[in-house]
Amino acid sequence: MARIAYVNGRYLRHGEASVHVEDRGYQFADGVYEVCEVRGGRLVDERRHMQRLVRSLSELRIALPMPLTALGMVLHETVRRNRVEDGLVYLQITRGVARRDFIFPAADTKPSIVVTARNLDPTHRERSATDGIAVITVPDNRWERVDIKSVSLLPNVLAKEAARAAGAKEAWFVDKEGFVTEGGSSNAWIVTRDGTLVTRPAEFGILRGITRTVVLDVIADQNIRFEERKFSIEEAYGAREAFVTSASQIVMPVVSIDGKPVGNGAPGLVATALRRDFHRVAEFS
Ligand code: PLP
Repeated sequence: MARIAYVNGRYLRHGEASVHVEDRGYQFADGVYEVCEVRGGRLVDERRHMQRLVRSLSELRIALPMPLTALGMVLHETVRRNRVEDGLVYLQITRGVARRDFIFPAADTKPSIVVTARNLDPTHRERSATDGIAVITVPDNRWERVDIKSVSLLPNVLAKEAARAAGAKEAWFVDKEGFVTEGGSSNAWIVTRDGTLVTRPAEFGILRGITRTVVLDVIADQNIRFEERKFSIEEAYGAREAFVTSASQIVMPVVSIDGKPVGNGAPGLVATALRRDFHRVAEFS
């Protein structure tokens, strides 16, 4: 079956779908994106992803190119046309096409929209969750506005490539004071020796992950001790458990950090339970 991509108002064969050479997304990484999980053909937490999209666009002063209801229809239609049952839908909006110049283009420049969707192999994903993943740590050399879900991801690309080269699945960024910020494409969590769940506050310094927000809802009515605070890499090395959250990985146990086993080196009980409970609390549309 041919994959289909939505590009600026048209559904095109994936192989033939393209954007202009002077699209500002291509020239300057001047754009934002969202990734939603698709489960049973439905979107997971579309409402919150759209809320974050609106925030990212407004922080960068890019206009929302169509009403959110219409954008939602494009997301669902792209999922339908690609027959995605379990996978991801990707949305990117850039400031549009204009002669290459750093300053913003004319106010009537239309933002560009691209939407793609694809299936992921659920058995492969479940196997990763059963085995757990390895992470490495790298210095956080990103700009300060990582709260914006911008397509400017070069430090994340380099960090995740370093992880791959080291045989790991994710890289955790560590700030100048030695505190973990987040993963290259995920939020970072630990469970301390005394069973307290810890993740970094999402003011600035990390992306406010939608999966992170839903996990906070999952634990709200459970008897889990939780602290929203910074944790150091040493604390992570000594943690009982660690895991990452993202739309593509949901809750993914971390079994080693920089080659050192976390806890007993197997996926932890808290991470496994949160993964199991996640979709009971997430919204479907
Ligand atoms: N942090 C970064 C840097 C990310 O790229 C992502 C997802 O791509 C996340 C956190 C997790 O966000 P979400 O749970 O909304 O997928």
